[in-house]
Amino acid sequence: MIKFLDLQKINLQYQTEFTDAFERVLKSGWFIMGKELDVFENEFASYCGTEYCIGVANGLDALILILEGYKELGIMQDGDEVIVPSNTYIASILAISRAGLKPILCEPNIDTYLLDANLIEPLITERTKAIMPVHLYGQLCDMNAINSIAKKHSLKVIEDSAQSHGAVYINGKKSGNLGDASGFSFYPGKNLGALGDAGAVTTNDAELANVLKALRNYGSHKKYHNLYKGINSRLDEIQAALLSIKLKYLDAETILRKQAADFYLSNIVNSKITLPLITAKEAHVFHVFTVRVAERQHFQQYLLDNGIETNIHYPIPPHEQPAYKEINTQNFPISELIHKEIISLPLSPIIPEKDLAYIVGVINNY
Ligand SMILES: *Cc1c(COP(=O)(O)O)cnc(C)c1O
Repeated sequence: MIKFLDLQKINLQYQTEFTDAFERVLKSGWFIMGKELDVFENEFASYCGTEYCIGVANGLDALILILEGYKELGIMQDGDEVIVPSNTYIASILAISRAGLKPILCEPNIDTYLLDANLIEPLITERTKAIMPVHLYGQLCDMNAINSIAKKHSLKVIEDSAQSHGAVYINGKKSGNLGDASGFSFYPGKNLGALGDAGAVTTNDAELANVLKALRNYGSHKKYHNLYKGINSRLDEIQAALLSIKLKYLDAETILRKQAADFYLSNIVNSKITLPLITAKEAHVFHVFTVRVAERQHFQQYLLDNGIETNIHYPIPPHEQPAYKEINTQNFPISELIHKEIISLPLSPIIPEKDLAYIVGVINNY
């Protein structure tokens, strides 16, 4: 069986360094908000090209805290609206709801699966305060168009970079440095994955960074002095130490992901299969490699019968989830089509070329 993603094998590559880091943290006797976090925050800010990085407990919190930070700064208020793609992983939308704001869903482009910048302006109202582009599957959104709409209407741009670590835009800037603030996830399956939950915010906004450093830690900069009604959302020392190790290998792993994706892109030839549209070589880090097929269930079973594990990102559109009863009756036909037809093929930095060749052979025979 060819696994969809072999996290054991991926992480065992770094076993010796992980063990050293674990011993270092164990022996330090300091497990939260210490040196390892400082080091990782500096390294990740520098990697993304931003002034600040604030480690938090996970990607969902990163996005929630950005929005709550803007509320503390008086830039947003309860009930304000944030425009977000209708086909994103639901966490982007949940973050907006959790922060007391209103998600306004915008359809994606059917070829890239990314927020369609042409559809944003009609959704802007008096209450719109931000656009949240999601670099879905690892491909960067049309940030020039999105940033210029935001500028025209004085909106914040909050990137959801949970799937796009290290993706480089046409202006040479990286994911995390393409808007006003960005949320990252280091969930184990992400391109930069911890051995547990972890996340971060990157930004060049000194005021926001300052508020977020307090918000993630009970709203306090100084122990027992609480400026804000904060939460406990911190990135543990042990995860920070492991992430520093994995960050060193991220670009090398991304190159391997791109090679695997290139292999699929240039060798899959089957009129029943729709390949994704890639806008620019450096702007996609292939968190997942998706194709579309009309009879998805049949295709998925066919691959499974041939020893190939796949996944679906994602099977149900957010607006059809019971969690979002209030918008269950709305229609987002492009999203609905994507959710019906999309399927993700095995892809990782460690997938052998012979597996890729086998998968392509099986697909081309479908
Ligand atoms: C994974 C993910 C998140 C949430 O990250 P967690 O660390 O799991 O909380 C948010 N947005 C997108 C697009 C994601 O893929």
